[in-house]
Amino acid sequence: MQPIETDVIVIGAGPAGLCLARALDASGLRVVVLEREPETTLRAPTFDGREIALTQRSVRLLRELDVWRRLPADECHPLCRASVFDTGAATPLEVGGGHEPLGWLVPNHAIRAAAFEAMAESGNVELHAGVRVAAVEADSTSARVRLDDGRTFAAKLIVAADGRFSETRRALGIPTRMHDFGRAMLVCRVTHETPHEDTAWEWFDHGQTLARLPLGRATPPGHRSSVVVTLPGVRMRELQAMDDAAFAQEIARRFHGRLGVVSDPGERHVYPLVGAWATRFAGTRLALLGDAAVGMHPVTAHGFNLGLLGVERLADELRRAAVAGGDPGGAALLARYARGHRLATAPLHLATRGVVALFTDDRAPIRAVRAAVLRASAGFPPFRQLLAGFLADRPGRASPRKFAHYGTTGDG
Ligand SMILES: Cc1cc2nc3c(=O)[nH]c(=O)nc-3n(C[C@H](O)[C@H](O)[C@H](O)COP(=O)(O)OP(=O)(O)OC[C@H]3O[C@@H](n4cnc5c(N)ncnc54)[C@H](O)[C@@H]3O)c2cc1C
Repeated sequence: MQPIETDVIVIGAGPAGLCLARALDASGLRVVVLEREPETTLRAPTFDGREIALTQRSVRLLRELDVWRRLPADECHPLCRASVFDTGAATPLEVGGGHEPLGWLVPNHAIRAAAFEAMAESGNVELHAGVRVAAVEADSTSARVRLDDGRTFAAKLIVAADGRFSETRRALGIPTRMHDFGRAMLVCRVTHETPHEDTAWEWFDHGQTLARLPLGRATPPGHRSSVVVTLPGVRMRELQAMDDAAFAQEIARRFHGRLGVVSDPGERHVYPLVGAWATRFAGTRLALLGDAAVGMHPVTAHGFNLGLLGVERLADELRRAAVAGGDPGGAALLARYARGHRLATAPLHLATRGVVALFTDDRAPIRAVRAAVLRASAGFPPFRQLLAGFLADRPGRASPRKFAHYGTTGDG
């Protein structure tokens, strides 16, 4: 069977793959998207419990991609302030409260649906959904994908956007550091007595990490939020097994009464916490995108924000190559993408690992250190500004030299 010729093959129609396909609209490049889920699921994804905190930069990019206007207005919630608590520290660390919200909370399924709609309107994108990739290979002249139904595709570039456990990445030989945090995260919408005032909570408590993400606007006062509970697996199974009434009471108890009475819990979703950091973000005629490149612990809420940074950078490179009549899978282009994206993601990836290590270790000396860190930070405005920047995806510039040891050089 003759291969179907195209320019770029994107494997994975998650939010990152869909946004890249949309970003290449009008670039002149032909794009094929391959996805194992059926098209009906992509068109109308079901609620998966994830409320994605988008930075203002991500919102701007989603506007440019014509995705933002497709999101239902009542599903986009402003995130005006954030408070970080540690049970051992008397005062929480508070950020935000400026003119502009720190970011926006939007459910993942709504982002997926809007990105799918935007991609489907792109003239040069061909979607093959419900397919199984049987083999991928690449050499200096072309990249090829064979499906298990026998069809083959040939392109200049393969983009692996197939998530943190990416089979494409493994098939093309890119080693990846996986980190199992040994915990699971439960997310669930609840109604609570105390108004949320558009403020997110991150709470490092003994034996558990909690978060409260405000939903609905706070005027009149909002009483619906997504609660997030991170626990070791055994404890999580107990929480999952409870009926709704017992679960609501348990959430009120775990939040030490600060939510007031808790009621009307929605669907519960549980995610095992496994991080991924690919040792290279590109290979021969291959670019890694989204969680396939860097799969973050959700505690700092940056996985998809970093995915969008990758979309922006890779699409820029590919559009420039198309205008110049260059090779979209050329080694120099891929090396620039890989290096730039590593420099952009390494600080947040490292900082997130640091936060998890410091704030989820319940040994007494570590507890004392983090209480001291929060106390010092609360009284130190520059640190609060830094944290606000961190939440808004401006953690400071990475210098190539500083992060060289972290594998930012030599990719491609
Ligand atoms: C509880 C939770 C909360 C989160 N909160 C935030 C947040 O607040 N802010 C934030 O920025 N991020 C957050 N994230 C992270 C965010 O959800 C991910 O970073 C994002 O979904 C990754 O998108 P992706 O497209 O790279 O991968 P995925 O969403 O994993 O999509 C991959 C796609 O590839 C397809 N696929 C996989 N294998 C194959 C194959 N072999 N062939 C074809 N198709 C394949 C899959 O079906 C899927 O459609 C959170 C994550 C979790 C779990």
